[in-house]
Amino acid sequence: MSNIRNPQYDAYLHLITSYQCNLECNYCEATQYGANPSVLYTKTYPINISALKKTLNNSNKIYRINFTGGEPFLVPNIVEACIELTKEHFISFNTNLTSKKVKEFAEKINPERVLFINASCHIKELERKNLLSRYIHNFLLCKNRGFNIGAIEVGYPPLLKESDKYKKYFLEKGIDLTFWVYVGPYKGKFYPDSYSKKERKILGLTKKYIDWFHQYGKLCNVGYNVGIIHPNGDISYCFAINKSLGNIYEGIKFKDKLIRCPVKFCNCPMNMYDLPLFRKAISEVGPYDAEWIQPFKNRIKENMKNLFLERKQNYLIDNTRKLIIEKIMRNKFSRKYLLKHWI
Ligand code: SF4
Ligand code: SF4
Repeated sequence: MSNIRNPQYDAYLHLITSYQCNLECNYCEATQYGANPSVLYTKTYPINISALKKTLNNSNKIYRINFTGGEPFLVPNIVEACIELTKEHFISFNTNLTSKKVKEFAEKINPERVLFINASCHIKELERKNLLSRYIHNFLLCKNRGFNIGAIEVGYPPLLKESDKYKKYFLEKGIDLTFWVYVGPYKGKFYPDSYSKKERKILGLTKKYIDWFHQYGKLCNVGYNVGIIHPNGDISYCFAINKSLGNIYEGIKFKDKLIRCPVKFCNCPMNMYDLPLFRKAISEVGPYDAEWIQPFKNRIKENMKNLFLERKQNYLIDNTRKLIIEKIMRNKFSRKYLLKHWI
């Protein structure tokens, strides 16, 4: 029997409902994943449930659908979508858990079909927006209804100094707060690589976890049994590779090979975020025929910006490095800059 203790699903779709959110965390990563600026902070539309179900059924697979955003509970028909999807598939959530709809969700959805609720606990924002008590109430509601739920705060460097205080506060409310890595810049340093020994201890972060974000040349199962659904329904391999796998309202077609990761730094290593599915992919097709794929054009732009405006050069894609060198070497002034600052 397939249930939360023994979930049997064939593929994992990371569904970005929109980039809209009711909070405004200063470390928000949603804008860092190569999203096109034209889709940022746009309205959240209802899910076309019948078209979505039809696409999933036609592909003859059982799915894990991970709702993320932005804030997925802003979707007007999110509870209806969950009711329908959990009849056959599994779901999971990344949510800030501040929506009033959480009550209806907890009452109507079978916890056995919800693999995990990552209840992101953005403490400073919750305090600022006076939503801390709503978060705690919703968390305990889900926990008491038997959902597999975790309170996870982002390990933003200035917050870690107060980690003991906040852990104690939440423990008194019956919530075990944990911290997870922050991915991004802070005061001229890039994280998670720049965490101090003390900070790594607070996070329980070993080298193995930091290596998760350094995937260049390693095997990845995106495209084979994992994909990202963008707010307009388009499905791509991952945030770095926008090669299409279809559209969630029209059809989905996975490839028959694993790939080798083309980027030096991955913000969201999908292979590590669902290890059972990654292992399943390896056991089915093996590593031998794995394909190299070109990364997302936006990532190349982002890396050019890093190089010229922020003088960051650690996370360049190898192909990008080659392209930049070829282009810049043709011009006398840029050649001088390149020789001085990069090579
Ligand atoms: S709750 Fe999440 S999506 Fe919303 S602003 Fe904070 S980090 Fe960004
Ligand atoms: S960038 Fe894409 S291919 Fe590389 S590890 Fe991350 S999810 Fe996989």
